[in-house]
Amino acid sequence: MKRLIQGFEHFRHQVFPHQRDLFKKLAAGQSPGTMFITCADSRVMPELMFNAQPGELFVYRNIGNIVPPYAQHVSGVVAAIEYAVRVLKVQHIVICGHSDCGAMKALRKPELMRDMPSVAAWLRHADVARYVVEQSASKLSDDECLSCLTRENVVGQLEHLRTLPAVAAAMASGSLCIHGWVYDIAHAQIEAFDARRGHFVALRHGMDNLPEATPHMRFATVSAA
Ligand SMILES: [Zn+2]
Repeated sequence: MKRLIQGFEHFRHQVFPHQRDLFKKLAAGQSPGTMFITCADSRVMPELMFNAQPGELFVYRNIGNIVPPYAQHVSGVVAAIEYAVRVLKVQHIVICGHSDCGAMKALRKPELMRDMPSVAAWLRHADVARYVVEQSASKLSDDECLSCLTRENVVGQLEHLRTLPAVAAAMASGSLCIHGWVYDIAHAQIEAFDARRGHFVALRHGMDNLPEATPHMRFATVSAA
């Protein structure tokens, strides 16, 4: 705790005075453009990774960067997504997995969750990744298997995300894009899921088109309007 209190003192005296105007503006409200859903892992620090200012990112974290499908589970993450889309009107939602994820390791070895029934129940929302990877697990090394699980989990959670009515409606109207990323801690690299090509590609500055996790869904009623 001493380390945290010292850290806050540093923030108050060294950081805050230089951004007083920004904090004064933010005290009256927020309008972040992006919701960032990632793992609770302490090594993943979105604001640091993206050099983001306060008020820029609406961050939600849980074990395994999971979004339960609509109507299956009432959860904090689903409520936060509804709020972000309906009230904050974010234009992007990113689901970001990461290398060396403990949740993905536990998916591979369920015995690790023997004394953690809540974790085991929560990670059932990631079963789709486990089933997909199990099919080819015999051909993969341990590292490859973990990396595939991490990617497939991001894709699976994107599918769940699309089942939320608020998300589907915003995507249909063209006001929301969703993205699936994987962050490599050791190399400071991000790969983004490109739905058109069906695989992950390195994210880099100056890309012609930001890979989209899914093309905009267009519904007949919207197209006809
Ligand atoms: Zn993790």
